[in-house]
Amino acid sequence: MKAPPFAYVRARSLADALDLLERHNHDGEGAKILAGGQSLMPALNMRLSSPAVLIDISRLQEQAGICVKDGHVHIGALTTHAAIGNSAAIRQHLPLLADAVEHIAHPAIRNAGTFGGSLATADPAAEWPACCVALDAQIVLAGKAGTRTVAARDFFQGLYATAMQPNEIITEVVIPIPAAGTRHAFLELARRRGDYAMVGVAALATFSGGAPRDVRLTFLGAGDKPLSATKTAQVFVNKGISESSLKEAQDTLATELDPAADLYSTAATKLHLARVLTARIMKQLVA
Ligand SMILES: Cc1cc2nc3c(=O)[nH]c(=O)nc-3n(C[C@H](O)[C@H](O)[C@H](O)COP(=O)(O)OP(=O)(O)OC[C@H]3O[C@@H](n4cnc5c(N)ncnc54)[C@H](O)[C@@H]3O)c2cc1C
Repeated sequence: MKAPPFAYVRARSLADALDLLERHNHDGEGAKILAGGQSLMPALNMRLSSPAVLIDISRLQEQAGICVKDGHVHIGALTTHAAIGNSAAIRQHLPLLADAVEHIAHPAIRNAGTFGGSLATADPAAEWPACCVALDAQIVLAGKAGTRTVAARDFFQGLYATAMQPNEIITEVVIPIPAAGTRHAFLELARRRGDYAMVGVAALATFSGGAPRDVRLTFLGAGDKPLSATKTAQVFVNKGISESSLKEAQDTLATELDPAADLYSTAATKLHLARVLTARIMKQLVA
Protein backbone atom coordinates (compact mmCIF):
# COMPACT_ATOMS: atom_id res chain seq x y z
CA MET A 1 0.00 0.00 0.00
CA LYS A 2 0.98 3.62 -0.40
CA ALA A 3 0.67 6.48 2.07
CA PRO A 4 -2.43 8.68 1.86
CA PRO A 5 -1.70 12.19 0.50
CA PHE A 6 -0.01 14.58 2.93
CA ALA A 7 1.65 17.99 2.84
CA TYR A 8 5.31 18.24 3.83
CA VAL A 9 7.11 21.10 5.52
CA ARG A 10 10.67 21.24 6.81
CA ALA A 11 11.09 23.08 10.13
CA ARG A 12 13.94 25.62 10.23
CA SER A 13 14.18 25.68 14.03
CA LEU A 14 12.52 24.21 17.11
CA ALA A 15 10.39 27.38 17.44
CA ASP A 16 9.34 26.99 13.81
CA ALA A 17 8.40 23.33 14.38
CA LEU A 18 6.32 24.25 17.45
CA ASP A 19 4.57 27.05 15.49
CA LEU A 20 3.78 24.68 12.63
CA LEU A 21 2.47 21.99 14.99
CA GLU A 22 0.18 24.43 16.74
CA ARG A 23 -1.06 26.03 13.53
CA HIS A 24 -1.87 22.77 11.73
CA ASN A 25 -3.30 20.97 14.76
CA HIS A 26 -5.39 24.06 15.58
CA ASP A 27 -6.83 24.04 12.06
CA GLY A 28 -7.86 20.45 12.71
CA GLU A 29 -5.67 19.14 9.89
CA GLY A 30 -3.63 16.89 12.10
CA ALA A 31 0.11 17.31 11.91
CA LYS A 32 2.85 14.86 12.82
CA ILE A 33 6.53 15.32 13.51
CA LEU A 34 8.81 13.44 11.11
CA ALA A 35 12.23 12.51 12.54
CA GLY A 36 13.95 9.39 11.14
CA GLY A 37 10.74 8.16 9.47
CA GLN A 38 11.43 4.53 10.42
CA SER A 39 8.15 4.06 12.29
CA LEU A 40 6.06 6.86 10.83
CA MET A 41 6.56 6.05 7.14
CA PRO A 42 5.62 2.35 7.53
CA ALA A 43 2.56 3.45 9.56
CA LEU A 44 1.54 5.84 6.75
CA ASN A 45 2.15 3.21 4.09
CA MET A 46 -0.03 0.76 5.99
CA ARG A 47 -2.62 3.53 6.44
CA LEU A 48 -2.50 3.21 10.21
CA SER A 49 -2.00 6.98 10.38
CA SER A 50 -3.14 9.75 8.02
CA PRO A 51 -1.89 13.17 9.15
CA ALA A 52 -2.55 16.03 6.73
CA VAL A 53 0.90 17.55 7.33
CA LEU A 54 4.33 16.12 8.14
CA ILE A 55 6.67 18.52 9.91
CA ASP A 56 10.21 17.37 9.24
CA ILE A 57 12.57 18.14 12.14
CA SER A 58 15.40 15.92 10.93
CA ARG A 59 17.65 18.88 9.97
CA LEU A 60 17.54 20.45 13.46
CA GLN A 61 21.08 19.38 14.22
CA GLU A 62 21.12 21.14 17.61
CA GLN A 63 18.85 18.30 18.77
CA ALA A 64 21.34 15.60 17.72
CA GLY A 65 24.32 14.64 19.84
CA ILE A 66 25.48 13.32 23.17
CA CYS A 67 27.16 15.25 25.96
CA VAL A 68 28.16 14.53 29.54
CA LYS A 69 27.50 17.25 32.13
CA ASP A 70 27.31 17.26 35.92
CA GLY A 71 26.97 13.51 36.35
CA HIS A 72 24.35 13.15 33.61
CA VAL A 73 24.40 12.09 29.99
CA HIS A 74 22.30 14.31 27.69
CA ILE A 75 21.10 12.62 24.51
CA GLY A 76 19.48 14.85 21.88
CA ALA A 77 16.18 13.55 20.57
CA LEU A 78 17.50 13.41 17.00
CA THR A 79 20.52 11.29 17.93
CA THR A 80 20.32 8.16 15.80
CA HIS A 81 20.41 4.65 17.20
CA ALA A 82 23.71 4.14 15.34
CA ALA A 83 25.28 7.27 16.87
CA ILE A 84 24.41 5.97 20.33
CA GLY A 85 25.96 2.61 19.46
CA ASN A 86 29.14 4.30 18.20
CA SER A 87 29.53 6.74 21.11
CA ALA A 88 32.53 6.35 23.43
CA ALA A 89 30.69 8.39 26.08
CA ILE A 90 27.75 5.97 25.99
CA ARG A 91 30.05 2.95 26.18
CA GLN A 92 31.81 4.51 29.19
CA HIS A 93 28.88 5.93 31.14
CA LEU A 94 25.75 4.08 29.96
CA PRO A 95 26.97 0.70 28.66
CA LEU A 96 23.42 -0.65 29.03
CA LEU A 97 22.45 1.45 25.98
CA ALA A 98 25.51 0.27 24.05
CA ASP A 99 24.49 -3.35 24.65
CA ALA A 100 20.81 -2.77 23.84
CA VAL A 101 21.35 -0.95 20.54
CA GLU A 102 22.46 -4.09 18.73
CA HIS A 103 18.97 -5.50 19.21
CA ILE A 104 17.26 -2.60 17.42
CA ALA A 105 16.30 -3.55 13.88
CA HIS A 106 19.08 -3.51 11.23
CA PRO A 107 21.94 -1.11 10.39
CA ALA A 108 19.95 0.86 7.79
CA ILE A 109 17.16 1.51 10.29
CA ARG A 110 19.66 2.30 13.06
CA ASN A 111 21.34 4.89 10.80
CA ALA A 112 18.08 6.82 10.32
CA GLY A 113 15.90 6.09 13.37
CA THR A 114 16.23 8.41 16.35
CA PHE A 115 16.20 8.12 20.14
CA GLY A 116 13.34 10.64 20.47
CA GLY A 117 11.34 8.94 17.72
CA SER A 118 11.55 5.63 19.52
CA LEU A 119 10.40 7.15 22.83
CA ALA A 120 7.55 9.05 21.12
CA THR A 121 6.40 5.85 19.40
CA ALA A 122 6.31 4.04 22.78
CA ASP A 123 6.22 0.54 21.34
CA PRO A 124 6.12 -1.73 24.41
CA ALA A 125 8.57 -4.12 22.71
CA ALA A 126 11.14 -1.39 21.92
CA GLU A 127 14.52 -1.30 23.63
CA TRP A 128 14.99 2.42 24.41
CA PRO A 129 11.83 2.92 26.49
CA ALA A 130 12.74 0.02 28.80
CA CYS A 131 16.35 1.24 29.11
CA CYS A 132 15.14 4.76 29.93
CA VAL A 133 12.86 3.45 32.69
CA ALA A 134 15.66 1.24 34.07
CA LEU A 135 18.10 4.18 34.08
CA ASP A 136 15.68 6.70 35.65
CA ALA A 137 15.86 8.93 32.58
CA GLN A 138 14.14 12.30 32.37
CA ILE A 139 12.47 13.21 29.08
CA VAL A 140 12.52 16.89 28.11
CA LEU A 141 9.46 18.13 26.20
CA ALA A 142 9.23 21.50 24.47
CA GLY A 143 5.96 23.30 23.84
CA LYS A 144 4.96 26.84 22.97
CA ALA A 145 4.66 27.66 26.69
CA GLY A 146 8.18 26.41 27.48
CA THR A 147 9.79 23.12 28.42
CA ARG A 148 8.89 20.51 30.99
CA THR A 149 10.55 17.32 32.14
CA VAL A 150 8.81 13.99 32.67
CA ALA A 151 10.39 10.95 34.34
CA ALA A 152 10.53 7.99 31.96
CA ARG A 153 8.54 5.86 34.41
CA ASP A 154 5.64 8.35 34.09
CA PHE A 155 6.12 9.10 30.39
CA PHE A 156 5.06 5.67 29.11
CA GLN A 157 1.37 5.31 29.84
CA GLY A 158 0.21 2.32 27.80
CA LEU A 159 0.23 0.84 24.30
CA TYR A 160 1.77 3.57 22.06
CA ALA A 161 0.54 6.10 24.66
CA THR A 162 2.72 8.69 26.38
CA ALA A 163 2.44 11.76 28.61
CA MET A 164 3.36 13.97 25.62
CA GLN A 165 0.73 16.48 24.47
CA PRO A 166 -0.06 16.69 20.71
CA ASN A 167 1.76 20.03 20.35
CA GLU A 168 4.90 19.00 22.22
CA ILE A 169 8.25 17.81 20.88
CA ILE A 170 10.85 15.71 22.70
CA THR A 171 14.10 17.67 22.60
CA GLU A 172 16.45 15.62 24.76
CA VAL A 173 16.73 12.90 27.35
CA VAL A 174 18.80 13.35 30.50
CA ILE A 175 20.13 10.21 32.16
CA PRO A 176 21.97 10.10 35.51
CA ILE A 177 25.26 8.20 35.31
CA PRO A 178 24.86 5.09 37.50
CA ALA A 179 27.05 4.87 40.61
CA ALA A 180 30.55 3.44 40.15
CA GLY A 181 30.49 -0.34 40.34
CA THR A 182 26.94 -0.68 38.98
CA ARG A 183 26.70 -3.76 36.78
CA HIS A 184 24.39 -3.93 33.79
CA ALA A 185 23.03 -6.48 31.34
CA PHE A 186 20.53 -6.51 28.51
CA LEU A 187 18.92 -9.63 27.09
CA GLU A 188 16.09 -10.19 24.67
CA LEU A 189 14.48 -12.98 22.72
CA ALA A 190 13.28 -12.23 19.20
CA ARG A 191 12.01 -14.52 16.48
CA ARG A 192 14.73 -13.32 14.10
CA ARG A 193 17.69 -11.02 14.74
CA GLY A 194 16.50 -7.41 14.29
CA ASP A 195 12.83 -8.15 14.93
CA TYR A 196 11.09 -6.40 17.79
CA ALA A 197 11.55 -8.38 21.02
CA MET A 198 9.12 -11.10 22.03
CA VAL A 199 10.35 -10.36 25.55
CA GLY A 200 13.46 -8.59 26.82
CA VAL A 201 14.93 -7.28 30.06
CA ALA A 202 17.25 -4.43 31.02
CA ALA A 203 19.04 -5.00 34.33
CA LEU A 204 21.16 -2.91 36.66
CA ALA A 205 22.61 -4.07 39.98
CA THR A 206 25.14 -3.16 42.59
CA PHE A 207 26.92 -5.82 44.64
CA SER A 208 28.59 -5.77 48.00
CA GLY A 209 30.81 -8.71 48.96
CA GLY A 210 29.25 -10.75 46.14
CA ALA A 211 25.67 -10.10 47.36
CA PRO A 212 23.24 -7.99 45.31
CA ARG A 213 22.34 -4.72 47.05
CA ASP A 214 20.21 -2.86 44.54
CA VAL A 215 18.65 -4.73 41.63
CA ARG A 216 16.49 -3.31 38.86
CA LEU A 217 14.77 -5.48 36.27
CA THR A 218 12.78 -3.65 33.59
CA PHE A 219 10.97 -5.76 31.02
CA LEU A 220 10.01 -4.96 27.43
CA GLY A 221 7.41 -6.89 25.44
CA ALA A 222 5.83 -8.13 28.65
CA GLY A 223 2.98 -5.64 29.00
CA ASP A 224 1.58 -2.53 27.34
CA LYS A 225 4.60 -0.43 28.42
CA PRO A 226 8.03 -1.02 30.02
CA LEU A 227 7.50 -2.76 33.36
CA SER A 228 9.84 -2.72 36.36
CA ALA A 229 9.54 -5.95 38.35
CA THR A 230 10.37 -4.48 41.74
CA LYS A 231 9.17 -7.37 43.93
CA THR A 232 11.06 -9.87 41.81
CA ALA A 233 14.23 -7.80 42.06
CA GLN A 234 13.78 -7.52 45.83
CA VAL A 235 13.87 -11.33 46.16
CA PHE A 236 17.52 -11.23 45.04
CA VAL A 237 18.34 -8.37 47.42
CA ASN A 238 16.79 -10.28 50.34
CA LYS A 239 18.00 -13.78 49.53
CA GLY A 240 20.99 -13.46 47.22
CA ILE A 241 21.34 -15.39 44.00
CA SER A 242 20.84 -19.13 44.35
CA GLU A 243 18.76 -21.83 42.72
CA SER A 244 16.05 -21.36 45.39
CA SER A 245 15.95 -17.55 45.10
CA LEU A 246 15.82 -17.84 41.30
CA LYS A 247 12.81 -20.13 41.63
CA GLU A 248 11.12 -17.77 44.12
CA ALA A 249 11.84 -14.79 41.86
CA GLN A 250 10.40 -16.58 38.85
CA ASP A 251 7.21 -17.29 40.84
CA THR A 252 7.05 -13.66 41.99
CA LEU A 253 7.43 -12.48 38.40
CA ALA A 254 4.11 -14.14 37.55
CA THR A 255 2.42 -11.75 40.01
CA GLU A 256 4.07 -8.67 38.48
CA LEU A 257 3.88 -9.24 34.72
CA ASP A 258 0.69 -9.74 32.80
CA PRO A 259 1.75 -10.02 29.17
CA ALA A 260 -0.91 -10.09 26.48
CA ALA A 261 -0.81 -12.66 23.70
CA ASP A 262 0.27 -11.35 20.30
CA LEU A 263 0.30 -12.77 16.77
CA TYR A 264 3.17 -15.10 17.58
CA SER A 265 3.08 -16.00 21.29
CA THR A 266 0.51 -16.81 23.93
CA ALA A 267 0.54 -14.90 27.20
CA ALA A 268 1.83 -18.05 28.93
CA THR A 269 4.73 -18.34 26.49
CA LYS A 270 5.71 -14.72 27.07
CA LEU A 271 5.64 -15.15 30.82
CA HIS A 272 7.71 -18.32 30.50
CA LEU A 273 10.29 -16.44 28.38
CA ALA A 274 10.41 -13.61 30.92
CA ARG A 275 11.14 -16.14 33.68
CA VAL A 276 13.89 -17.74 31.62
CA LEU A 277 15.44 -14.31 30.95
CA THR A 278 15.28 -13.43 34.66
CA ALA A 279 17.42 -16.45 35.57
CA ARG A 280 19.83 -15.82 32.70
CA ILE A 281 20.32 -12.15 33.40
CA MET A 282 20.91 -12.63 37.15
CA LYS A 283 23.54 -15.29 36.42
CA GLN A 284 25.13 -12.90 33.93
CA LEU A 285 25.15 -10.04 36.45
CA VAL A 286 26.79 -12.08 39.16
CA ALA A 287 29.37 -13.71 36.86
C1 LIG B 1 11.69 -3.25 9.92
C2 LIG B 1 11.77 -2.42 11.18
C3 LIG B 1 12.22 -3.03 12.34
C4 LIG B 1 12.29 -2.30 13.51
N1 LIG B 1 12.74 -2.93 14.64
C5 LIG B 1 12.81 -2.23 15.79
C6 LIG B 1 13.29 -2.85 16.98
O1 LIG B 1 13.66 -4.02 17.01
N2 LIG B 1 13.32 -2.09 18.11
C7 LIG B 1 12.92 -0.78 18.12
O2 LIG B 1 12.96 -0.15 19.17
N3 LIG B 1 12.50 -0.17 17.01
C8 LIG B 1 12.45 -0.85 15.85
N4 LIG B 1 12.00 -0.21 14.73
C9 LIG B 1 11.57 1.22 14.81
C10 LIG B 1 12.77 2.17 14.75
O3 LIG B 1 13.56 2.03 15.91
C11 LIG B 1 12.35 3.63 14.64
O4 LIG B 1 13.51 4.32 14.28
C12 LIG B 1 11.81 4.34 15.87
O5 LIG B 1 10.75 3.60 16.44
C13 LIG B 1 11.21 5.70 15.51
O6 LIG B 1 12.21 6.67 15.33
P1 LIG B 1 12.20 7.60 14.07
O7 LIG B 1 13.21 8.65 14.30
O8 LIG B 1 12.36 6.77 12.87
O9 LIG B 1 10.76 8.28 14.19
P2 LIG B 1 9.65 8.61 13.08
O10 LIG B 1 9.31 7.38 12.33
O11 LIG B 1 10.04 9.80 12.28
O12 LIG B 1 8.45 9.03 14.04
C14 LIG B 1 7.80 8.06 14.83
C15 LIG B 1 6.74 8.75 15.71
O13 LIG B 1 7.38 9.56 16.69
C16 LIG B 1 7.01 10.93 16.55
N5 LIG B 1 8.24 11.70 16.81
C17 LIG B 1 9.46 11.46 16.27
N6 LIG B 1 10.37 12.27 16.84
C18 LIG B 1 9.71 13.03 17.73
C19 LIG B 1 10.13 14.04 18.66
N7 LIG B 1 11.41 14.44 18.76
N8 LIG B 1 9.18 14.58 19.46
C20 LIG B 1 7.89 14.17 19.38
N9 LIG B 1 7.44 13.23 18.53
C21 LIG B 1 8.35 12.66 17.73
C22 LIG B 1 6.48 11.07 15.13
O14 LIG B 1 5.54 12.10 15.00
C23 LIG B 1 5.84 9.70 14.93
O15 LIG B 1 4.57 9.67 15.53
C24 LIG B 1 11.92 -0.91 13.53
C25 LIG B 1 11.50 -0.29 12.35
C26 LIG B 1 11.42 -1.03 11.18
C27 LIG B 1 10.96 -0.35 9.92
